[in-house]
Amino acid sequence: ISIKNLSKVFRTDEIETLALNDVNLNIKEGEFVAIMGPSGCGKSTLLNILGLLDNPSEGEYNFNQTEVANLKEGQRTDLRKGNIGFVFQSFNLIDELNVFENVEMPLVYQRISSKKRKEMVSQVLDRMNMSHRAKHYPQQLSGGQQQRVAIARAVVSNPGLILADEPTGNLDSKNGQEVMELLTELNREGTTIIMVTHSMKDAGYAHRIINLFDGKVVTEESLVAEQVF
Ligand code: ADP
Ligand code: ADP
Repeated sequence: ISIKNLSKVFRTDEIETLALNDVNLNIKEGEFVAIMGPSGCGKSTLLNILGLLDNPSEGEYNFNQTEVANLKEGQRTDLRKGNIGFVFQSFNLIDELNVFENVEMPLVYQRISSKKRKEMVSQVLDRMNMSHRAKHYPQQLSGGQQQRVAIARAVVSNPGLILADEPTGNLDSKNGQEVMELLTELNREGTTIIMVTHSMKDAGYAHRIINLFDGKVVTEESLVAEQVF
């Protein structure tokens, strides 16, 4: 990921908000990066742009050797498929679907055959220790279990990049630690992870912390002596 002079302006009625202001950022394949900063500093806006959910107003965004800053929504959707997995603070599982069906959803959108989907979902549920809950619905699960299902859904198609927005924000410390260990394990296997967090403890799992303030990158701290990725 390479971002150059990237800005995002929101216009509502007469009010203009400069949510991101001339951001420059490089993230290597295999890195684990934490984004921190006070409420309203632009973290979600940055994550949405990084995840190809939204376009910047100005600047360049190079994703996997493709310039994506000015893509149309349909093109962004195509590029997201199989490449980017999302994990949210509030899990965002679909209440009407059971665990298996929730995890299967991205594969349906990718038009993967039903047989292959069964195989892939079973495998990832095994890995997340959730096979015994495959027929359960989200409301029947604890917060920690729901987040494990959400991570299963994010990684079922083996994306190279996971974007996590306060993944432990609604979890107690034990479940939060488990989620961080899962993300760390996925990162060790090569998945790039970009995580927004308010927790210094969670940020400690990352290789690098990027601090945002008023839409600008103000400091970057490396947490590893050498580049291990
Ligand atoms: P944001 O708009 O930045 O996503 P939230 O709505 O998640 O913020 O949080 C609202 C407020 O609660 C913020 O001021 C934030 O600093 C604080 N907050 C949220 N999660 C945590 C946390 N895990 N630890 C400490 N403070 C938190
Ligand atoms: P954070 O995630 O750090 O809390 P956000 O990225 O959500 O910050 O917001 C950054 C700034 O952009 C805030 O001032 C917020 O009010 C504004 N903003 C975010 N999304 C929108 C939107 N869709 N329309 C108008 N203003 C927005």
